Amino acid sequence: MEFLDLSPYEYRKFPLPMRSVGWLGRRFGVQGGGAQNVTVADMQRFKGASRRLGSVTLGTHECEFCPADLPFEGNGEYRYYCRSGEVYAAPSMILHYVDEHGYCPPREFLESLHKIDQLDWDWRAERLIAILRDDSEDFDFRCEAIIDLVHWKDPRVLRVLTDSVKDEELVDIAGDEIGRSLGILVACGFAGDLRVESLPGIVKLGFEQIVRK
Ligand SMILES: [Zn+2]
Repeated sequence: MEFLDLSPYEYRKFPLPMRSVGWLGRRFGVQGGGAQNVTVADMQRFKGASRRLGSVTLGTHECEFCPADLPFEGNGEYRYYCRSGEVYAAPSMILHYVDEHGYCPPREFLESLHKIDQLDWDWRAERLIAILRDDSEDFDFRCEAIIDLVHWKDPRVLRVLTDSVKDEELVDIAGDEIGRSLGILVACGFAGDLRVESLPGIVKLGFEQIVRK
């Protein structure tokens, strides 16, 4: 799937407006080309922000720039919630494009990653919380909200995630993601009154991937 950098994201349905970055293919080739303006700090910030994948059920995608008999494959996407209010979505392959094919993400995107770990609470967080709390919402949206809400290190997120453990369907399908998200919050000092021993097994498993016993 190929999209122009910074164009509105339309790969699939998502409850927030996003913009595309790094969805490369043969038609537009390796977009960008401004690598001379990219600093080591830009790249470190970008890679630091590309840690956790969402939407891994999308199916795999093959790199169109690798040799045809040995293509690199990727699955899922990174979502970057910026202080500007923008959300960018990139395929997991974006790291491969940068490292192996000289791709340079757009300047505007790289600039937006400043202080990405210090988000103010805003309507995006409210929207994702509302989705996760509403069992009539699109189930995939609810699962992605579990992953994306931890961009906000906030007690409100801890609360909604703790509550989501009571939803059997969510635990069945995304229990490990709930656990990882709880682990990320606890690792950042938001333990609240979370009792790890009372979490369902699959949730505990995800949690312990982040917070080692
Ligand atoms: Zn490749």
